[in-house]
Formats: sequence, C-alpha cells, structure tokens
Amino acid sequence: RFITLEGGEGTGKSTLLEALRERLQMVGRTVMVTREPGGTELAETIRNLVLHPPEGQVWSSMAEALLMNAARTDHLEKKIRPALAAGSWVLCDRFADSTRVYQSVQNGVGVEVLKMLESSVLGETRPDLTLVLDAPVEKAALRRAERGGHADTFELRDKAFHEDVRQAFIDVARSEPERCVLLDASREADEVAQNAWHEVESRLFE
Ligand code: C5P
Repeated sequence: RFITLEGGEGTGKSTLLEALRERLQMVGRTVMVTREPGGTELAETIRNLVLHPPEGQVWSSMAEALLMNAARTDHLEKKIRPALAAGSWVLCDRFADSTRVYQSVQNGVGVEVLKMLESSVLGETRPDLTLVLDAPVEKAALRRAERGGHADTFELRDKAFHEDVRQAFIDVARSEPERCVLLDASREADEVAQNAWHEVESRLFE
C-alpha cells in the first residue's frame, strides 16, 4: 500500500507521518518511510541542487520541473517500487501532488506539461491514498517559525503565495476524491492522526 502526505509547509506532515508509521507497525505492517524531493542518494542530491542552487544561480521553471521528475523517477525505481513489491507499506512525505502544486503555482509550468510528465514518470505506481493536510496559512507560518531551522529559498515567500499553494492543494484533493482526503490540520496533532488513521483503516484495510 502506498500512502502520500501532501500540503503546504508547516501543516504537520512529518508529525503525522511518524504517527501513522507507529500505528501501522503496531498492527504488524512493515513500513518504509520516505520523502520527496529526495528519498534516494541521487534524488537527495537533486533536492539539494533545486533547493540550494549555487550562489547567484536560478533554475528555469521548466528545468526545475524536470529535475523534480528526474528525482521522482530515481526514487520510484530504486526505493518505492521495490518496497511495494516486497509487501511493505510506503509512507511518503510529499509526492507528485507537490509538483502539480508548486511547479504550477510557483513556477508557472503548464498543467498539461506537468500532467504528461506525471503520467510518464508514475506509470502504474499511483498512491492508494493521499492525505492532504490543510490549515490556514497564519497557523502554518506559526508552526514553521516554532520549528525554526533553515529558511531555504522556498520558505522565504509571501502570504499570497502560501494562500495560492493552500488553494491548489484543496483543488487537487477535490479533483480526485477517490484517492485524496482533505484533513483539517489546524486541529491538535493527536486528533489529526486519529482522523488520518480512520481513513487508512476504512479505505485500505481488508
Ligand atoms: O517538504 P519540505 O517542506 O521539506 O519541502 C521543501 C520545499 O520544497 C517546500 O517548501 C516546497 O516549497 C518545495 N517543493 C517544490 N516542489 C516540489 C516539492 C517541494 O517546490 N515538488
């Protein structure tokens, strides 16, 4: 089973991922946790190139979209597909929907181009369930500030951008209700995990 977590920065994806990993392991499932962009050595190298380009350098929108897809291809080939084939549950922090959202909202790459790349790269490997975490941008900004740490090129953006990202994730979730669930991430972490677990149990357990 392949589960992806999506949503803007600071919506609590990593926290939820850990909670789901614990619960799945508790009921005896083998779980592989991973993330995008990244997940394999080469894909992490690409992540670093995209998030931290050499001083004074910028990627064009198209180049960035292709790099994200190249990273995903490596991740799918070397890690995700083998794990699924071995019967593992795969939990991935961000996946193809982040590309649909960021590369179109932020980079303005055409939806048709992104769709074509997505279907070529994914093939049959589609998430069984995608949990889309949704929270007001003020709340997410607070979480990001509390979390502290680095501010990479992507995090230094204005409120309007984060509003657009939020709306784009909502649109993705609504466009594929059989795969996606929109979760209210403004609630307490325990409650979000409980709601997410309910979806996992009801949709993916026989
Ligand atoms: O998940 P995390 O916050 O670590 O992602 C790092 C950043 O990479 C995000 O803030 C997002 O802006 C950016 N990103 C992107 N395109 C993707 C995935 C992530 O621009 N497809």
